[in-house]
Amino acid sequence: MLPCFTCGATLLNAFPDNENQPQDGTEFRTYGHYGSTFWDSFDGEELVLNICDACLERGKQRLAQHKRFRPIKTYKLGMVGKQWVDRPMVHYTGNRDDGSITVEPEELGEAIGSRVEWPDNIQELRTYAEGLE
Ligand SMILES: [Zn+2]
Repeated sequence: MLPCFTCGATLLNAFPDNENQPQDGTEFRTYGHYGSTFWDSFDGEELVLNICDACLERGKQRLAQHKRFRPIKTYKLGMVGKQWVDRPMVHYTGNRDDGSITVEPEELGEAIGSRVEWPDNIQELRTYAEGLE
């Protein structure tokens, strides 16, 4: 749907049924920010742009990264929740903070720590995960 915002390259959809899932690129969305004179939406409308991987690589010295949560996983299901963390935004290093928490199926939906967020269907996932054991 959208070309690369920076170089204009055509980006194919990674999944044809998705509206905007760029192959070899990343989609960015924002409601805007106070301070922008271009886009600061208060009506729920997002600004959307794609940037191809080559342009991100070329401009990585102007990027930052910000770890927002640690994934909570089970051995057989993968990510099933989040633990929100307070980390500073840092200049892009390319080093991923892969810190995660692995729990047993019977711990899904339980109070296992502070700032833990489970999806609405966590009891359904718990039952499914327990059945996989
Ligand atoms: Zn590009």
